[in-house]
Amino acid sequence: MPKHWKTKLIHSDVAVPEGYRSLTTPTYRGSTTVFPDASAVTDAWDQYETGYTYGLYGTPTTLELAGRICELEEGYRTIITPGGQCAISLIDLALLKTGDHILVPESIYGPNRKLANDLLRRFGAQVTYYQPTIGRDIGGLIQPNTRLVWCESPGSITMEVQDVPAIAHAAHSAGALVVMDNTWSAGVYFDAFAHGVDVTMQALTKYVGGHSDLLLGSVTVKDKAIYRQLGATLQILGCAASPDDCSLALRGMKTLAVRLEAMGSSALTIARWLALQPEVELVLHPALQSCPGHEIWKRDFTGSAGVFAFVLRKDVNKEQVLAFVNSLRLFKIGYSWGGVTSLVVAYDFTHYKARPDYRHRIIRLNIGLEAIDDLLSDLQDALRTLQ
Ligand SMILES: *Cc1c(COP(=O)(O)O)cnc(C)c1O
Repeated sequence: MPKHWKTKLIHSDVAVPEGYRSLTTPTYRGSTTVFPDASAVTDAWDQYETGYTYGLYGTPTTLELAGRICELEEGYRTIITPGGQCAISLIDLALLKTGDHILVPESIYGPNRKLANDLLRRFGAQVTYYQPTIGRDIGGLIQPNTRLVWCESPGSITMEVQDVPAIAHAAHSAGALVVMDNTWSAGVYFDAFAHGVDVTMQALTKYVGGHSDLLLGSVTVKDKAIYRQLGATLQILGCAASPDDCSLALRGMKTLAVRLEAMGSSALTIARWLALQPEVELVLHPALQSCPGHEIWKRDFTGSAGVFAFVLRKDVNKEQVLAFVNSLRLFKIGYSWGGVTSLVVAYDFTHYKARPDYRHRIIRLNIGLEAIDDLLSDLQDALRTLQ
């Protein structure tokens, strides 16, 4: 059939040679995927079962990233979401119903708490917070309707390392599932499934992305039944990750090992140095004895990442803390850690009940890839402003 040039713009006969063997995963973009014949048309979300049906359920780039995260975490299957917080909400929305009860550690990532307090309660779920260091005593908080026990280890900002195996044992004996935010360990320094977790999530935004230029999340499950529940809910929610972002995450994965090791080693050196400074009361780094749960970190983890916190001396007032942060030159002030740039945020716990009494004196650092001596002198100069 001869074609008008306007038709040629849409339907081309050009064929390029096949078999280009790149070392990188191609970025497959696409909303629609073309079916081979009319009877093959289906809207099934599980493309591992049915083949490709729609871009919302992932293109080969998305599925490649999912497969690689799953391979690392040694789960059954992984779902990629547009951000870490979306991974969190997918888990809750897929696994909970009205009347269910969930247990959440006080040290949970802030927006996860907000989801539990606002949306879950609005939809009739019950939420109880527990001390992150509770261990096996969590059994006393489990109710007949407890469906999920969230863990995050170490906890956001305050860095408590949790006894996940003890919590999992108590949860499982009561028929509840254990769900874990495993972002700090990048899914590699803590083997969540080997320690009794049923569902893990990560903000790939952080260490896997690694360059502060993308937002992605992952949910990895241990078994097929939970996978089917999560997938069916994701289809209804319609949250699709961008294949371009997935391609960046696939690139990030290739250098994850060297970045994590370099940042982890610098962070440990800086944490130990901070512990010796007279202006510092306490260093909250899992590999230091001063961190709640340090012994559990030694037992359960195979490494430490580049994020930790420290608490300034009791007589340092809030203005001084802010002046300290403002006087840092290499450490930029910002939330989303895991990238190559060192970051700092000062938190104020004064009005949080049931949290440690660090008040306005707790500061979280993300250690990047700068030369360690420059980071140490930046911190030293800033500490002088407190004298
Ligand atoms: C950043 C973060 C998230 C959320 O990730 P986003 O991709 O920013 O939505 C979840 N949990 C932890 C522990 C985080 O640090």
